[in-house]
Amino acid sequence: MFILHASSEIAPFAKTGGLGDVVGGIARPLAKLGHRVAAVMPLYRRVRDARVPMKAAAEFDVKCGEATRRVKVHRGEMPGAEVFFVEQNDLFDREGLYGGGLGDYPDNAERFSLFCRAVLRIVTDLRLPVDIVHAHDWQTALLPVYLRTSHAADPALARIRTLFTIHNLAYQGLFPSHFMHVAALDWSLFNWKQLEFWGSINFMKGGLVFADRITTVSPRYAQEIQSREHGCGLEGVLKDRAADLSGILNGVDTEEWNPGKDKLIPQRFSAGDMRGKAACRAHLRRRMGLPESPAPLFGVVTRLAAQKGIDLLVDALAELVGTEAQFAVLGSGDDGLQRALVAAAQRWPRQVAVQIGFDDRLAHEITAGADALLMPSRWEPCGLSQMYAQLYGTLPVVRRTGGLADSVEDRATGFVFDEASPAGLILGVRRAIEAWRNPPAWAAIVQAAMKLDWSWDRSAREYAALYAKLVAPAGPEAPGA
Ligand code: ADP
Repeated sequence: MFILHASSEIAPFAKTGGLGDVVGGIARPLAKLGHRVAAVMPLYRRVRDARVPMKAAAEFDVKCGEATRRVKVHRGEMPGAEVFFVEQNDLFDREGLYGGGLGDYPDNAERFSLFCRAVLRIVTDLRLPVDIVHAHDWQTALLPVYLRTSHAADPALARIRTLFTIHNLAYQGLFPSHFMHVAALDWSLFNWKQLEFWGSINFMKGGLVFADRITTVSPRYAQEIQSREHGCGLEGVLKDRAADLSGILNGVDTEEWNPGKDKLIPQRFSAGDMRGKAACRAHLRRRMGLPESPAPLFGVVTRLAAQKGIDLLVDALAELVGTEAQFAVLGSGDDGLQRALVAAAQRWPRQVAVQIGFDDRLAHEITAGADALLMPSRWEPCGLSQMYAQLYGTLPVVRRTGGLADSVEDRATGFVFDEASPAGLILGVRRAIEAWRNPPAWAAIVQAAMKLDWSWDRSAREYAALYAKLVAPAGPEAPGA
């Protein structure tokens, strides 16, 4: 099969979050499965500045309302895939991907609708025999829309099936209605069943309505987003598409996050030889200014945002310190949470240590050195930190939501609690401490966690199975099938 990914972020070229890792992560395993893989992304300033090797591949005009914009396409490479970069310097030669200090760029509707139409021109001009267009998040959500509407009669595109993946439902690409014209969208689509959303255009909604299939980054989150609580206003559309919606967990970079190879930790270890973990724990206590202790050490590595439930931790700490356990917290974000955490560290210096900031090395040190990792998230589409922790034998204590519920099995590969409240979190921590007091039982859970397969190969196999279903001829099953 020929699979074409369209994404506004692809690691290592440009990334602002998890989205960028996905295309970079699954391209090579998909190629190993025998598929031809290509990817398209905008040529941002940072890609140009990095002097990524590429060659001119095509050139054409795209109409954006009254303006005609010249687009150049360059062909480069990444492991397992060819990559096309869409050059349109008026739109993409900028410092940020989506915005700058003043907020989102006001012409994002034009930038990404042009990008989607450029993707289709690449397919037709270069005669790429594409079977699947895999579009990611709102920036490429118009691809399924164009393919089923304005471009539906183009024979060069007719066989293409589309998969749309939601990485973050909270960002939907909402724009004033006058951008319909700029994006070359027919006004007939501006209705509540298709692109319209409370008077605005909603790019993501278009993707959800017109894609042949939809995925999100965990099976549980695929269910949750059909509810009012997690649907961000699109729960109705998602419920309508429930039969075509499923979840595939992200993988992790098992080269970067590997306790046997990690250069950022003081001593390496593996499931077969855990001696190095004690050294990592002792180092982490010193590094965070915590005294030696016979009690377990809980780590936290997180953005400080409402999503992550760190306010629950703040409220639970007064009781949690009563257990003798220690807490090593690394986080950045919300001011109020930063202050509350720092105050807790001052109040209980022998048990709570806090570092504010974004620090990759310390993230590795905590992941390796702690006994357990806390993730009391209110919602979590997939979550990566819990998977890293498991691979380092650091048992995650997580709330039962989204990808956390799908990747952590209670008492088998970590600990799971239900309630998004300080009491719920305290219960989870107490259960983990109880298990920790039984070393053989704890060691068995650690071994099971360290053996989990969180490679991108696993995700790629699941995507490949879905692509196969999409291109399989529709209709009644063949006799004997
Ligand atoms: P999200 O993308 O919602 O922040 P994930 O768990 O999917 O959550 O991914 C977060 C990633 O960012 C993890 O790799 C985690 O280690 C890292 N991270 C988060 N906060 C920090 C921080 N303050 N310092 C270093 N790394 C961090």
